[in-house]
Amino acid sequence: MNKVIFTDLDGTLLDLKTYSFIQSIDAIEQLKSAGVPVIFCSSKTRYEQEFYRESLDIKDPFIVENGSAIFIPKGYFKTQHPFNSYLTDDYEVIPLGKSVDSIRRSLAEKREKYQLKFAYYSDLEPEEVSTITGLDMKSSRRAMTRDFSETILTGRLSEGCYAELDNEGLVSIPGSKFETVIDSRTDKGKAVEILLSIYENEFGKMRSYGIGDSKNDEAMLQAVDEAYLVQRPSGEWAPLENTSARGVIGIGPLGWNKVANMIIK
Ligand SMILES: [Mg+2]
Repeated sequence: MNKVIFTDLDGTLLDLKTYSFIQSIDAIEQLKSAGVPVIFCSSKTRYEQEFYRESLDIKDPFIVENGSAIFIPKGYFKTQHPFNSYLTDDYEVIPLGKSVDSIRRSLAEKREKYQLKFAYYSDLEPEEVSTITGLDMKSSRRAMTRDFSETILTGRLSEGCYAELDNEGLVSIPGSKFETVIDSRTDKGKAVEILLSIYENEFGKMRSYGIGDSKNDEAMLQAVDEAYLVQRPSGEWAPLENTSARGVIGIGPLGWNKVANMIIK
């Protein structure tokens, strides 16, 4: 049976602090030779994920901004699928979430109404984003180019904000470091299910694997056949309620490497 891996990036494939993937490279090379697609499924944007796809020479589809859209390289699948999509120069895009412009409008309204001081990407200069996130300047600019979600980088939303976001069909999802506001109809799990159905439409039944490190990955881990949690830098595994994910010994990319080796065997 064909295999496919869905993986989180921050704290999973990438080191949580340094964003390094050095510990995952060997396993990725082996997966590529074995023809196992590695699907990034992360809160990261298209431009951020493209950087890692290029660095690791991965040519598979990817899921951006917490399940807000699926990017499929043009010509990757030969068979038709039933999902609404549009074409860009390089990709077929299946959008699942509201646009970032509408999300920013909603957040700005709440900040004014409740006199709050939180800031998100588009409020800040690349230098400030770099200081807050630890990303270098280029990476900061990539993170700031968003399509479907906005991330609170400083300050906090208030209880009233959460209730209003809910009424507007938006939700705030806690990530490894920051909370991200997205369309409440989207989640990593739904995007994984859609992409998996497209794979199975083309190749027949697939064996699916998921690797993550946080609560933010729960829906993705529920949507796959075999789910794994890597250790957090503290050595603990994220406490998840509704998943049969197995904890792997190994922090971030070290744990990722172990799971990947097991999948290859
Ligand atoms: Mg993570």
